[in-house]
Amino acid sequence: MKRVVKNFSSYINGAWVQSEEIHSIYNPANLKEHIQDICLATSSDAKNAVLAARNASEIWSNTETLKRISKLHQIMNDLENQRNEVAEIITLENGKTILEAKGEVDAAISEGNYQLEYLKNNLIEFEGSNKLLYRPLGVALLITPWNFPLSTVIRKMIPALACGNTIVLKPSEYSSLTSLFIFEILDNNELPKGSVNLVLGPGNTLSDALINTDEVDIVSFTGSTATGESIQKKISHSNVRYQAEMGGANALVVWDDANIEMAVSATIASGYACAGQWCTGISKLIIHESVYKNCIDILKKSVENIQVGNGLDQKTAMGPLCNKPQLNKMIDFVNRAADQGAEILTGGSQLFDKSKNGYFFQPTLLSNMSLDMEVSSEEIFGPIINVFKTNDINQAIKYANLGKYGLSFSVYTSSESTADHFISNVNASICHVNMPTPYREVSMPFTGWKLSGKGIPESGRFARDAFTKPKVVYRTAN
Ligand code: NAD
Repeated sequence: MKRVVKNFSSYINGAWVQSEEIHSIYNPANLKEHIQDICLATSSDAKNAVLAARNASEIWSNTETLKRISKLHQIMNDLENQRNEVAEIITLENGKTILEAKGEVDAAISEGNYQLEYLKNNLIEFEGSNKLLYRPLGVALLITPWNFPLSTVIRKMIPALACGNTIVLKPSEYSSLTSLFIFEILDNNELPKGSVNLVLGPGNTLSDALINTDEVDIVSFTGSTATGESIQKKISHSNVRYQAEMGGANALVVWDDANIEMAVSATIASGYACAGQWCTGISKLIIHESVYKNCIDILKKSVENIQVGNGLDQKTAMGPLCNKPQLNKMIDFVNRAADQGAEILTGGSQLFDKSKNGYFFQPTLLSNMSLDMEVSSEEIFGPIINVFKTNDINQAIKYANLGKYGLSFSVYTSSESTADHFISNVNASICHVNMPTPYREVSMPFTGWKLSGKGIPESGRFARDAFTKPKVVYRTAN
């Protein structure tokens, strides 16, 4: 067994804290490949992590902003210098292709550096002799998912720390290795003891110990809507700030005047990149009747050409699903959709192949979807696209708005007014015209409407407001 990170346990109050419960991590592309064992934190470890963060709060919040920022810049530089190593770890534990993993690392680095540059100059404002200070909240509990194991952590951790908060990170149990890698960098940079803490293990068992409403000042959550809502309930009677980035069931529209080749390649990028496990990826493709046949013919060929395999193999275009529940969810989804009248245009099954012993699922296209099918409005979060057909713009908008989510959207059209009509009427916070749905820029908020998001976004220029509270100082000469 090779060990991909030196350490294998939670990191609390400046020390690696081992426990008796061991969890073995296997490569999702090859279940015979045992990657590493890690220790799962106990409830008492989780409590200690929160208390350590509380105790370190005074020293870190009073460290000069420029000193904090310069330390964090060094951390981002260290991450950049180990870009290839961290990308390989992401592929090994998550399954995404090495190209996708490197893309994630690069995006995380630009996002972290953007936050540091922005916050360097924006934690204090002057208005005449009055001062507006953006002061840290205290202890930030950061809970993150497995699908973007590096960027979802950096997106929260860098602004939280730069603003002067101390942190407890609870990453997904499926992304412990990437988090350990990040914490080895933090450990090498010798931040004040207790200012950064890592708690490894499943959220449901650690939840009560972590969500200590007396000691935590903000919970910043990214993950499914169901988990996000359960955390919100837990803290609803307290003064703890809550911000959440949650699920999505996003749509891409191909209208009658679209460039079909462009729309098809955006559909592949939006639907099957990271094996569809991308919150801003698409699960709904809405095609105008007049271009439906042409679009589907080209798309089906492209989908069938997607090379599925081990993400470390350069030829692979789509890796496995990250874990067994994900694989079971896809099998179940296709079965339910077929029962409700969906037609499988291509794919629809698990890929069994001795050389591909892992959680592989075929890139899948389902057609014949309608508004009244219960599955039409679900978040799929895998390599399955539901295709809808219409020639009515209002019907297309209804399909796009189906369900409880409101995250991302794209329309392919050459008409500005058609694009504007869609954008004005879809309930999505991140909209695109003639671009794939996951596209984003780091200065912009990455957030969701309806049950896709809650509270002030922790990203873009909003991160400061998510992780600070204002203090106004009026002053006059004595
Ligand atoms: P999840 O909700 O199962 O888990 C997310 C995190 O919450 C994990 O760390 C998990 O251990 C923890 N958790 C689980 N139960 C908990 C509880 N009771 N109390 C406290 N923490 C708990 O989600 P996932 O499967 O890891 O990630 C996939 C989901 O994340 C998808 O729904 C996807 O859309 C969403 N996502 C959203 C964004 C966004 O920015 N909107 C980004 C990435 C992923």
